[in-house]
Amino acid sequence: MKYISLIIFSLFLSSCCVCEDDYLLRCEGLSDSIEYNPETINRKVLVIGVDGIRSDAIQDSISPFLFALSQQENTYFTDSHIVEGITYSGPNWSSLLTGVHMSKHNVLENDFLNPNFNEYPSFFYYLENIEVPINTVSIVNWLPIHTHILSSIVDYAPIESISDLEVFNSCKEILLNNNPVEGDVIFLHFDELDGAGHGYGFSADIEEYRTTLTTIDGYIEDLFNIIDVKRANQEDWIIFIVSDHGGDGTGHGDADNPHINQTVFYAQHPNLNFIDYHTSSMADLAPTILDFLGVRSEKYECKKDGVSLIE
Ligand SMILES: [Zn+2]
Repeated sequence: MKYISLIIFSLFLSSCCVCEDDYLLRCEGLSDSIEYNPETINRKVLVIGVDGIRSDAIQDSISPFLFALSQQENTYFTDSHIVEGITYSGPNWSSLLTGVHMSKHNVLENDFLNPNFNEYPSFFYYLENIEVPINTVSIVNWLPIHTHILSSIVDYAPIESISDLEVFNSCKEILLNNNPVEGDVIFLHFDELDGAGHGYGFSADIEEYRTTLTTIDGYIEDLFNIIDVKRANQEDWIIFIVSDHGGDGTGHGDADNPHINQTVFYAQHPNLNFIDYHTSSMADLAPTILDFLGVRSEKYECKKDGVSLIE
């Protein structure tokens, strides 16, 4: 009997320790002042988000640039990146941007019914709250990312419905001509691959899914070429390619399906090393960006779920 109560008591303890209030309590006394490293704060970041990449569709014949990049030495790549337990876009883009899992940011669907971005803001919040001015930019096809997460904090985050081609052209204009703004840290979101998946099927065997991925692969290659010229001009850029979920059939709701609950994740830099013993999750993007720029807050270090992928 005693033994049973002990088990019940320890079950109670262990279940209690995962509740969100405990995280808050543990981090409460810590300083929320944000520090930065003057030597790395001028570095640049490009995050290319592609909605609905099914990992096994990254093939030489469909997306030659992404396939070749996955084989490169100086690139962190996994095709088993771990998706949130709810495999919709809302929870996953929220985790990518905040560095915490959905149990904390509380986005559990695509309507953003009860988010907790006050306690767990996006990584852009930390960049916008230091003395050094950083030009932050976000251009998205799927507008809820702006209306619910980014528009109040990012310098340039237009709230108008645009296509993937317009996302690409707008980014190109910013990178090449600083038009209409300069971009130091840029987030992009392409949505038409997810649209092809819902319309025809998330599969390398489906022509619409394949050709849409080929088109986006071309956009990504062009953006890499632009960044390479900037790197040759002494700008220090890191590039990420991220996705929110895979897909199977014409949906991505089944969180037990490995074609859905895993996707790809890339981080690329010409001379940084990335850790190779860790399979990334949605919470790792934000800590990696802040680490790259040398931006740190004691409180965020305590609250975040992800880790930096930089060695
Ligand atoms: Zn979708």
